[in-house]
Amino acid sequence: MSDQKTVTLTMDQLQALAKSFGEEFRKKPEPTESEQAQIENDLRMRRDRGEQELQKIANKKLVQSICTHTRIENGTTRTVHIYGSNNLDDYMICQECNAFIHAGGPPADPVMAKEFENHIFDTRLFNLHYKLSQARTTF
Ligand SMILES: [Zn+2]
Repeated sequence: MSDQKTVTLTMDQLQALAKSFGEEFRKKPEPTESEQAQIENDLRMRRDRGEQELQKIANKKLVQSICTHTRIENGTTRTVHIYGSNNLDDYMICQECNAFIHAGGPPADPVMAKEFENHIFDTRLFNLHYKLSQARTTF
């Protein structure tokens, strides 16, 4: 025990040493080759799934943009009238393209506006299909 050496450190050196130990302990172990392959595979799958979802949304928008929401053979509407609830006015749903058609403009609240960003806000279109849907029930 008598040959034990003593080291004198300044407070700054001690803090730097403690910090580097801390960083070393916080480091995650390097992933193995198979773990790395799994990580890259997961990332690729997640990216592919995201791209597929974006493609699905784009396709749905395209279908909705070319849908007349009416039956070509007799001009009747393919929409169904949905009664509004507490904070939502009435709207129409097209059974062909699943478009939500509202009268008036999109909600002013930014959160609600984001939620309704794929809905159609067109009073003339809403009124037309509302009228057609009411006419259908009288036959
Ligand atoms: Zn439609």
